[in-house]
Amino acid sequence: MAAAGTTEVKMQEVKDLTRIERIGAHSHIRGLGLDDTLEPRATSQGMVGQAEARKAAGVVLRMIEEGNMSGRAVLLAGPPGTGKTAIAMGIAQALGEDTPFTSIAGSEIFSLEMSKTEALTQAFRRSIGVRIMEETEIIEGEVVEIEMDQPAAGGASEMTGKLTLKSTEMETVYDLGTKMIESLNKEKVSAGDVITIDKASGRITKLGRSFTRSGDYDAMGPQTRFVQCPEGELQKRKEVVHVVSLHEIDVINSRQQGFLALFSGDTGEIKPEVREQIDSKVAEWREEGKATIVPGVLFIDEVHMLDIECFSWLNRALESDLAPVLIIATNRGITRIRGTNYKSPHGIPIDLLDRLIIITTSPYSGKEIRKILDIRCEEEDVEMSDDARELLTRIADETSLRYAMHMIMSASLVCSKRRGTEVEIEDIKKVYSLFIDLKRSTNFLLEYQSEYLF
Ligand code: ATP
Repeated sequence: MAAAGTTEVKMQEVKDLTRIERIGAHSHIRGLGLDDTLEPRATSQGMVGQAEARKAAGVVLRMIEEGNMSGRAVLLAGPPGTGKTAIAMGIAQALGEDTPFTSIAGSEIFSLEMSKTEALTQAFRRSIGVRIMEETEIIEGEVVEIEMDQPAAGGASEMTGKLTLKSTEMETVYDLGTKMIESLNKEKVSAGDVITIDKASGRITKLGRSFTRSGDYDAMGPQTRFVQCPEGELQKRKEVVHVVSLHEIDVINSRQQGFLALFSGDTGEIKPEVREQIDSKVAEWREEGKATIVPGVLFIDEVHMLDIECFSWLNRALESDLAPVLIIATNRGITRIRGTNYKSPHGIPIDLLDRLIIITTSPYSGKEIRKILDIRCEEEDVEMSDDARELLTRIADETSLRYAMHMIMSASLVCSKRRGTEVEIEDIKKVYSLFIDLKRSTNFLLEYQSEYLF
């Protein structure tokens, strides 16, 4: 049992790491880098070149903002490392900072833990945010007295009591329940403290000792904070806004351990009844003005890895009221649709192709690669000489942009090992000999294939 548990934890860590890595590689992208007329700026918001694709993405952005994307999706088609993921992320960021962005690879859908349509449903619902407006009353005052009731006979677990709070103008008595008493004990609140009570959650926060009790200074020690007893009215209204995804609400309501499942990743399959209930609850909140929907972006890379059943699911799901903006990407040309014997452009069935707005990306020029690498050096806080940057640019051109980008951090480590302050050509050469790129790896395998077991 213990061994199985450890494997699970490890698998989860690995999954989280790939996610961090994927987001980390695009941390310099902050939008599409367009001006007000949707023309791409040469370099802006971390985006370089790829002008035509960014311009087209700008038109898509306008369509999304005007609500003209329903039933449609975007396909980004182009060679590896030409910024397909970067553009999808740029669209999400241009839509606003609360916009959920989910990025998955087509192959991730096929897992032993859940069916493919469940995995797709979860990805869809992860990409739809619910902005919840909550009004809560915050009460601030100086504690005059805390009175606990005697526990009822039979050791009932409910605790009750009374709390008297005062401002400069008035005193008010509040009833205490178990949650508030636990919070009072945790904060070690006593008479003379100034506290706030969040009425919705029952949470009590100690702000400090009231100035009127400054005589306590010696007894309380030098760390004590003294604060003014609040003036006037005790009650204040405060609006709190949180954005959670529909998937998070599903998980919280479907598992016994509630929101903890979100951290353990143990979400499993979610029953359709739970989702129906959540959808009608959210609809109710929207009607009452308590919540609004924030449609996000779902990006599916390597979409040719999906099979015909997944494509039919996507086709249907795009019609739903609560669909996120779907952006799919592939670097394949005409290829077989998985699960069939038919070939089709990008391995995508015709009925889905019909709904797609297709944007193509093309390889970068040397100058553009250099600019992207410069931006990444800055993002990763790495100092690098001009010569080393030139060499790295050449390597990117001959291998791949991603390989060269990975070299920045490793070359910086090699540099600090020799106590250097700036990455030099030598460091790049060393990393180039330590870690092989795809082309060299393939050549190596071809040369020594007889020594490998297949
Ligand atoms: P694949 O087909 O292999 O998934 P991709 O087309 O999605 O590749 P990205 O992952 O977006 O390519 O690009 C590789 C790296 O280069 C990423 O770190 C990305 O942020 C960066 N990048 C790509 N294009 C640009 C660009 N136009 N401006 C700035 N950075 C870019």
